[in-house]
Amino acid sequence: MNNSKRTNAIFSYNYLLCLSVLTILSFNNIVLAQEAEAVPGEYLVKLKPNFSTFNFNAKALSSHLGAYIKSTLPAANVLVVQRASIETQKSAIKELSSNPLVEYVEPNIIYHTLKTPNDPNFSQQWGLKNTGIKNGVDIDIDKAWDIETGSGEVIVAIIDSGIDYNNPDLKDNLWTNDLELHGKSGFDDDNNGYIDDIYGVNPTGEGVASNPYDDNGHGTHCAGTIGATGDNGQGISGINWKVKIMGLKFLKSNGEGTLEAAVKAIDYAINKGAKVLSNSWGAYTSSQALQEAIERANKAGAIFVAAAGNDGTNNDEKPMFPASHNIPNVVSVAAINTNGNYAGFSNWGVKTVHIGAPGVGVFGFWKGGETKSPSGTSMAAPFVSGVAALVLSHEPQLKNSELKERLIKTSKPIASMRGRSISGGMINAYYALSNQLAPPDANDPENWQSMPVSIQSAHPYLPKTKQTFEVKIPGATEIALYFTRFETEQQNDQVRLIDKTGKIAHNISGSRGSFYSRIIKGESVKIEFESDIESEGFGFEITKAAYH
Ligand code: CA
Repeated sequence: MNNSKRTNAIFSYNYLLCLSVLTILSFNNIVLAQEAEAVPGEYLVKLKPNFSTFNFNAKALSSHLGAYIKSTLPAANVLVVQRASIETQKSAIKELSSNPLVEYVEPNIIYHTLKTPNDPNFSQQWGLKNTGIKNGVDIDIDKAWDIETGSGEVIVAIIDSGIDYNNPDLKDNLWTNDLELHGKSGFDDDNNGYIDDIYGVNPTGEGVASNPYDDNGHGTHCAGTIGATGDNGQGISGINWKVKIMGLKFLKSNGEGTLEAAVKAIDYAINKGAKVLSNSWGAYTSSQALQEAIERANKAGAIFVAAAGNDGTNNDEKPMFPASHNIPNVVSVAAINTNGNYAGFSNWGVKTVHIGAPGVGVFGFWKGGETKSPSGTSMAAPFVSGVAALVLSHEPQLKNSELKERLIKTSKPIASMRGRSISGGMINAYYALSNQLAPPDANDPENWQSMPVSIQSAHPYLPKTKQTFEVKIPGATEIALYFTRFETEQQNDQVRLIDKTGKIAHNISGSRGSFYSRIIKGESVKIEFESDIESEGFGFEITKAAYH
């Protein structure tokens, strides 16, 4: 008798231990590795499915969570709360997560616009039609416009800093919420929580919630690329001459926006039937609440276009969100410059970045009727959103998954996007609309003739090396060398490729995978390798010379 009682007691004690271990493990899953940039003291609290944000007495729930409830995101079943005390994210998340009502907790992450600060001096819409700098590096819009110029049936939600709805070149292409436009002033006619939301909303918490007026300029630039009225004798032309642009101002005038506001904007777009969501913003912090909002957009049949980021880094290794959320409707966009090369600032990722688009010196509108030529993946993403809308105007029955596949498959191959993106190409309006494969890139050495060569350093290379080689291909007009492997000490140990005039055409150091060198003019290339007193790594190996 005694023995059996004791066994029972031990058993239940072990069971309790197991429970507490499990609890700790689940905390570890929830707690973020490092402090995310977020609104101090604010958290998104996802309730378990059997508890609804609607059913609760706010006061009771507030005291239960030990936090003030700032707002609710009903479609997400999420509460946005403010903690009264100053504490670390980790301890706030841990404490809120321990509540039995709660599924997960996240800080109210801050996202930023993805515009680079420099404004190069290009002031033409080269991304649409490139006649000046390099012919052919554009989206072939004039050929596309012979097929389709857009339609007022397609709603594009610009989730950004709002939209200058007074801009005369935009005003004919604005989406309007007709229930509010023709409704009673001062009354929430469509019962969506916003009073008189005619052109979209502003869930930033600053200004009027139903007024998406752009006090930054960034969102208006995106809007102009997608749908400035075409063929109206003024301003610029959007990719779509006609379209319905919805302004969702979730970024404040300083270009910052919260997770809370992003989720509200996405759900508004879904609720009002937008089929293209354009997102030129991001942060390196992953969010489950954002993931779920994009999944809701996916379910609703919308494509979600997102800028890849402007840090010149690999999103496969260091993901930028929302671009790197792994959801079937997400299209991550890198930036391409006027010469048809991947822009040095653009993030890339052979597994996670889908496509390139013009993103350097993109001429367009800013706030208050100004014009500007900013650079960034922020400027590139709207090209993809715009082409997505153009294709949808032409083929309204296309599913979002088919549309995404179309954009990727019909992209125009670009040498520098090969090995940096899933498509290896740049968005192209004409090939997307006509559903044809684009021709290979004539500037890509991969498509030229080639001959084997064998030029290499010692492996590992030696300190104080100075080697010179030459590749000569009589009759060639251009040559590119193929490196199978390259590892030298950054800056100090380098390979210089010198053209026939004695000019250094390419200076290479550091660590890279396999790649083609820059294109070198003429029928010969001199290769100089120089290392300093220290050496580290494999060195280099050239196995092929491509030429034409
Ligand atoms: Ca309303």
